Amino acid sequence: MTIDRFGRAIHYIRISLTDHCNLRCVYCMPEKMTFRPTAEMMTFDEIVTLSKLLALLGFDKFRLTGGEPTVHPAVVDIVREIAATPGVASISLTTNGLLLKKLAEPLVKAGLQRVNVSLDTLDPIEYRRITRRGHFTQVWEGIMAAESAGLKPIKLNAVIVRKFNEKSLVDLSRLTYEHPWQVRFIEMMPFGGATSLQLNQVVKSGEMRQTIQAALGPLELVNHGELDGEAQMYKLPGSLGEIGFISSVSVPFCAACSRARLTADGHLRLCLLRDNEVDLLTPLRSGANLAELRQLILDGIWAKPWGHGLAEGEFATNRIMSEIGG
Ligand code: SAM
Repeated sequence: MTIDRFGRAIHYIRISLTDHCNLRCVYCMPEKMTFRPTAEMMTFDEIVTLSKLLALLGFDKFRLTGGEPTVHPAVVDIVREIAATPGVASISLTTNGLLLKKLAEPLVKAGLQRVNVSLDTLDPIEYRRITRRGHFTQVWEGIMAAESAGLKPIKLNAVIVRKFNEKSLVDLSRLTYEHPWQVRFIEMMPFGGATSLQLNQVVKSGEMRQTIQAALGPLELVNHGELDGEAQMYKLPGSLGEIGFISSVSVPFCAACSRARLTADGHLRLCLLRDNEVDLLTPLRSGANLAELRQLILDGIWAKPWGHGLAEGEFATNRIMSEIGG
């Protein structure tokens, strides 16, 4: 098990397979996004090598993200390799769902266990306004395909942005009456110059809860308030699903953080919201052996930061969200 200097056990790795995405969500990246050259990205073999090394170091929870992981041509093979790696207890995917109709079944056959689908609205016009591309119905069909393929529980992630999709708080919460899904509302993290959105467009989870309760009645706390991953979970009485809030801005969950990230260009990123990274790809390409790479990872994890200044408008500057993977 890999431990940091604050005594946190770090065993959850989020791997970004690519910085490319088939959407351009307003809170995530500029409309005219320039992606990094393919030569700078980890190859299939490099992703597998680093994943196996991380598993040897005690990382047992793997999540594939992006950019959009499903646009990676080898996503199914990558899932298969990681799922078959000794020590890997869980493998999941965060996706915008657009390609799940086609991919859900092959991904499950390859060993994928769960999926989080990002969906900020149920209104097709609003969907287009937020994502600038793509069609709501494609995502919906993707969610249905994921559920039929056995990727349960389905988790839907919605970033709520003031003046964009506050209506989604109630619309998406209503889904939990009929579906055994987790609908999780995420506070938007204002990422510097990447978008034109501002700190005053962050809707904090306390306000989100009030909006839902005003429309649908009291929410019951689930798990006595213990975090489920990074979300605090609630339920509407009589519903099949649950409603969660990820309060990255208003209530940072650094004490419970067990994660590190591997960017698509092979950097071990130690905190979503801090610039600290360890380049693993350059040494790997220069012939570093596994013992040397192992030491780089252990030293990096030891120095993992604590705390962020999002609420004060401080943010990481070296990458935008689509390059880190959320
Ligand atoms: N393309 C995939 C998807 O849509 O889920 C994976 C990558 S995306 C960067 C991962 C998550 O980050 C998504 O749920 C997305 O909504 C969230 N995200 C992106 N920019 C964000 C921001 N500024 N604040 C909060 N969440 C953000």
